[in-house]
Amino acid sequence: MFARVCWGYNTPAMSLRQPELFATAPSAEPSLYCDVAVPLPIRGALTYAVPAGMARHVAPGVRVIVPVHGKRLVGYVLGVSERAPGGVSPEVIKPIFHLVEADPVFPEDLLRFLREAADYYLHPIGEVLRTAAPAIDRRRGDDDPSTAGTPGALVKGSAAKRRASLKARWQRVHEETYVKLAAGVAAAPPKLRGDKQAQVYAILAARAEVSMTELRQHVKTAKGVIDGLCERGITELEVREVPDDPFFGAPVPRDVAPELNDAQRDAVTAITAAVEHHERAAFMLYGVTGSGKTEVYLRAMDAAQRKGKGALLLLPEIALTPQLVSRYRARFGDNLAVLHSGLGDADRHAMWKKLHRGEVHVAIGARSAVFAPVRDLGLIIVDEEHDPSFKQDDHFRYNGRDLALLRAHRLGVPCVLGSATPSVESYHAAQEGRYRLLHLPGRATSAPMPDIHVVDLRRVGPKGPTGHELLSLPLVRAIEATLNRSEQAILFLNRRGFAPSVRCAACDQAIECPSCTVALVMHRREGTLRCHYCDFHVPFTGACIVCGGSDVTLLGVGTEKLESAIVNSFPRARVGRLDRDVASGTGAEEVLDKLRRGDIDILVGTQMVTKGHDIPRVTLVGVLNADAALAFPDFRAVERTFQLLSQVSGRAGRRDLLGHVVIQTWQPEHPVLIRARTHDYEGFYQDEVAARAELGYPPFGRLAALRFDGHDEEGVKAAAARLEGVLRAMPEVMAGTIKVLGPAPAPIERLRNRFRMQCLLRATERPPLRRALLRIVELADAQGREGVRVAIDVDPMNML
Ligand code: ADP
Ligand code: ZN
Repeated sequence: MFARVCWGYNTPAMSLRQPELFATAPSAEPSLYCDVAVPLPIRGALTYAVPAGMARHVAPGVRVIVPVHGKRLVGYVLGVSERAPGGVSPEVIKPIFHLVEADPVFPEDLLRFLREAADYYLHPIGEVLRTAAPAIDRRRGDDDPSTAGTPGALVKGSAAKRRASLKARWQRVHEETYVKLAAGVAAAPPKLRGDKQAQVYAILAARAEVSMTELRQHVKTAKGVIDGLCERGITELEVREVPDDPFFGAPVPRDVAPELNDAQRDAVTAITAAVEHHERAAFMLYGVTGSGKTEVYLRAMDAAQRKGKGALLLLPEIALTPQLVSRYRARFGDNLAVLHSGLGDADRHAMWKKLHRGEVHVAIGARSAVFAPVRDLGLIIVDEEHDPSFKQDDHFRYNGRDLALLRAHRLGVPCVLGSATPSVESYHAAQEGRYRLLHLPGRATSAPMPDIHVVDLRRVGPKGPTGHELLSLPLVRAIEATLNRSEQAILFLNRRGFAPSVRCAACDQAIECPSCTVALVMHRREGTLRCHYCDFHVPFTGACIVCGGSDVTLLGVGTEKLESAIVNSFPRARVGRLDRDVASGTGAEEVLDKLRRGDIDILVGTQMVTKGHDIPRVTLVGVLNADAALAFPDFRAVERTFQLLSQVSGRAGRRDLLGHVVIQTWQPEHPVLIRARTHDYEGFYQDEVAARAELGYPPFGRLAALRFDGHDEEGVKAAAARLEGVLRAMPEVMAGTIKVLGPAPAPIERLRNRFRMQCLLRATERPPLRRALLRIVELADAQGREGVRVAIDVDPMNML
């Protein structure tokens, strides 16, 4: 344990603007001590003396700057005591440098919850707090460069550099030109030259002002037209900075809540009663895509608010689109904090503050929003609870959904898990009565479920009349029919790039990333070979990057290739693409906007097209290769496949038009395809739960993974073997209470030049597993200091 360690440090001169807060009086005899969690991979807290001037403010949850190993770190006070820790003489205990803020950043209940989370995931508390904390607020006047950057970041680099990066973060704004008619022009319309001028004039006359971006959407040559109009004094320009946040662009008009149907009303009544009675209850809201779950969330959150309680809603990051957010804004107006990964530090901090001070009572966000400091939290909702993105897969490996349940449980308030395809674990809990099942059986708009046609690629062949791979005859016919009806299609393919692998004849294998054991993907537009797991990319010259040989073959189909095949095959259709390559910044939203406006006939994309979009004229969904998800070396592969197929199918025919889904597969007889075709979640669940029971996988067993990685393969193997030795000697393992699988090289053996191994622990009950993990935590930490990282992953999701 590292607690009670005190390092030497020279207190530097500091210029501070809030002297009463930060008055360090090193001569005064400290009478208070505090335990501080610092963001380092150490398990305990460090003890510091509290200078007299700060005593008033130092309390659990307060952020402080402390010396550690000659560096200054941002830490969090966990507790305060009047006595120096036993065996340490007070003189050697270093004082806190200063406070970051006068008030605790974590309210008491949140801090307690975070400590519990750290304990459950066996993760150092300092790193947990750093994950949960807001960025440091620079506007409060603290000029000390040591507080720049994210809290807890090691403080290094020149002050100028830090300020520059800080400035970059502050400038999450862009300049926008606004155009309006010059004063008096509207009263006396000028003579206009040409159609374009007339068109632009008409738009301007109807509105007080219009942004140039919007004008360009109406009239491509708007800029030239405006230049001409400005010259003649007809229009005026103003350049303003506007925030980048796409979620709070134009105001959203308040909506009128629809009359609930019976199933929705029952669900809302049950949740609302639990909110009102402050009842500790977990609900499973199970309803097909489009069954009106979101409306249930809105009503339940509204009920909480009427009771003077706060509400928190979590959803997968890629479901967090401006379109969805506007549904919440339409109901909650400005009483809503949206927490998403695109927020800059300043905005994130502002949101945090508003929640913390109780100015805003409703928060929605992706997984880390589970830490949002919502006041008087009375309800937590997790939408799409089955989504794997709730699990964070590095550093603090938590599951946002599970922490939502924990947080609600500790507060004694209801938690609602919603999904059209619940995770096997959650649905099992509902079957056992641990969660209360609320069921929305049909679509809210009375739109029928889409009809699903499974195409057997073995029989019809993957090449249809167009000659392009993965465009089978039935799919091509379905696309044609959709275009003929002037409706829209979404084609889903889970690989981005042009060709997923490039084979070199001379090397007799696919060209691999030099740092990872994965094939490089050819991106045609960019002209590169790219690794999708690290940053590696090289120009693609048509030659092998290993041997220089030019006999290379492009293999497979990625979204970029599919896009070009579709453009070739349907020359009159307007084709768009949505994947991570086009989605940076506001790219994704632009593509979705086009789809919504009807400017795209066929949208090609990766999972990004599967989530939550509700676009009335999309009536065809094509799944190009259903087998890709099934091929994953993961016991959840079947579950993931069912979820993906159901989610993407749910995009078709959501309103008055009938939806069609075409699923292409090489294994049409696979049970999961039969279940998906008939929208049979129950059937899928029964199949899957039987398989899990047999294998002892969740929900019938508890899992933990130990993950080892390091630059030196032998070192990693040795570390894994040593830990395995310890494990195998444990009585629970010898008695078979805990099964140890591995250690074995991970399916992706090398990632960013680090060799990787993993070891899976499985037990029927949680307590023995936890005891075993507790015994190896310190051993794991010790190896971490020897160059091999060992991470404990409780309830792992990612098996790669
Ligand atoms: P889910 O979240 O289950 O996918 P949504 O809440 O998005 O479903 O609802 C699907 C569509 O049905 C939306 O367009 C929504 O406005 C509409 N809707 C929801 N509830 C009702 C209702 N009670 N009456 C009419 N339309 C409804
Ligand atoms: Zn790589």
